[in-house]
Amino acid sequence: MSILSNCEITCSCGKTFEAEVWKAVNIFDDPDLKDVILSGRFNTVECPHCKKVFYHEHFFMYQDLQNELIAYVYPKKEQEFAKNLRQKMLSEFNALTKDMQDFAEIDFEPVIYFGIEDLIDTIKNEDNSKDEIDILNFIAKRIDLDLIKIKPSKARNLCILHTIPKSKKSTGNLKKDIVSGLEQLLKYNPNLVEYENLLARIKQNISCLDEILLHKKTK
Ligand SMILES: [Zn+2]
Repeated sequence: MSILSNCEITCSCGKTFEAEVWKAVNIFDDPDLKDVILSGRFNTVECPHCKKVFYHEHFFMYQDLQNELIAYVYPKKEQEFAKNLRQKMLSEFNALTKDMQDFAEIDFEPVIYFGIEDLIDTIKNEDNSKDEIDILNFIAKRIDLDLIKIKPSKARNLCILHTIPKSKKSTGNLKKDIVSGLEQLLKYNPNLVEYENLLARIKQNISCLDEILLHKKTK
């Protein structure tokens, strides 16, 4: 559920007024709010006295449960309290997952951001990743590739895409099959920058796959 609430706001002209701002955003319920955030129109208010339009920065929670992203977005200036705020977030979040049905199945931790820009960067990166994953899904049906799915929240932490290919012709060595899967994918479409980076990362240190594969999705 997304939550709007009334807020008393002081404008730089010195006058105070009331306006509604979002305190919680649920992308499943309100998908349009994602574009509002990306466009920079999120929580902008207009001073009724001087007509100035500005972003009212205050805490809000962003939920995209399908992508395993729950972000506590604090104002930038509160970064100096990061340690305490992180603790507060985790204890609040634990209480929420215990009390609320919607949160009962959540098996990942929230992330903390200071300033909406960090959230916008994450959303943009993941939209780019999603484009490459869609292309992988399309190509996998045409050439002999199986797909390995990684928990999205873990993939985000590890800075990798949550779906990676492996060759269907198994050598009996999963890591080699992934390298071969990535090579086949990039031969078919050399424009997949994120998969190219992943292949380079694996070739540099193949044991990085050990940690990635720990978080394989089972369902
Ligand atoms: Zn004003």
